[in-house]
Amino acid sequence: MERKFICIRCPQGCEITTTLDGNGAITELTGSSCKLGPEYVKQELSDPRRTFTTTVMVEGGSHPLCPVWTEKPVPKDKVMELAIALRHIKLKAPVNTGQIVLENALGTGINIVTSRSIQGGI
Ligand code: SF4
Repeated sequence: MERKFICIRCPQGCEITTTLDGNGAITELTGSSCKLGPEYVKQELSDPRRTFTTTVMVEGGSHPLCPVWTEKPVPKDKVMELAIALRHIKLKAPVNTGQIVLENALGTGINIVTSRSIQGGI
């Protein structure tokens, strides 16, 4: 079976074509410009993950929204559920960079943290 992937490890976005045997093992791989391509495809086949970024609401701060992200890539099938969970979170200013917004998000063992600070007193 042939399967195509776009590698997202760098902006070049190589289109990688693989041939898989009946057990899903890679028998042929073409289109990768560096060694990260095959690693990416193996990860996609066994445990696809994504780094997820979004914003959450901030009360009483110099900005109404604070950018947040996953400390590590989370399982791809959890991303939508995570986006919904974060929509209901409201932080109180002041907010510090690296502050945990959601601990052990959806039982993944991965925290969601802020990526900037927001001053309070507004
Ligand atoms: S295979 Fe290498 S060069 Fe191509 S997108 Fe992936 S990381 Fe970038």
